[in-house]
Amino acid sequence: MWQEINYKDSNDLLVPNITYKINPAEIESIEANSIAEEIGFESGDSIISINGKKPRDLIDYQILISEEILDISVLDKNHEIHNINIEKDQDVNLGINFKNALFDSIKQCNNKCPFCFIDQQPSGKRKSLYIKDDDYRLSFLYGSYLTLTNLKKEDWERIAMQKLSPLFISVHATDPATREKLLKNKKAGVILDQISWFEKNSIQITCSNCCLSRYK
Ligand code: SF4
Repeated sequence: MWQEINYKDSNDLLVPNITYKINPAEIESIEANSIAEEIGFESGDSIISINGKKPRDLIDYQILISEEILDISVLDKNHEIHNINIEKDQDVNLGINFKNALFDSIKQCNNKCPFCFIDQQPSGKRKSLYIKDDDYRLSFLYGSYLTLTNLKKEDWERIAMQKLSPLFISVHATDPATREKLLKNKKAGVILDQISWFEKNSIQITCSNCCLSRYK
């Protein structure tokens, strides 16, 4: 699903002046014979910033490392900060695998679907099974489905600017009142406008529907 992307000026694709907390991106493993291995990156190190920008997630990271000259700020396992300069070809990856795909926090769903499959999970399972994720970045990276009810203006701007395509959308129903009732969310009724927005911005989407006759 993930494809490496190269941009002429990667900073053009990042939102400036982010005020919320972004955690350093913790490295899980280093690929053999990679630039990261040669430099001495280790599992447990964390990347704070690349060319002065803190990546919010794997998408930002991939954009940032498409530069030929990188100035990387790294927090090591002993909590010491190092600055590392790398010169590489534009299309060469560093060979770093991260513990998580998101370095800020996951965007959770704000719906209250009566049929919610998360609410129906038996108790006592691992924590991740109870997270109601509705995060467009995970949709782009891994193909998870979105309802679009929790997107803020800056999220729409980012999708358009970074061309996060394709995305996967849970439509359920296109009639505004029916969709609002299904998702128990007043923000759910604008799905057709949102689908038009994707078309206008050349973002490819895959939609899923489900038929729940008792809600018709
Ligand atoms: S969108 Fe609905 S079904 Fe999915 S997690 Fe949220 S409340 Fe549950």
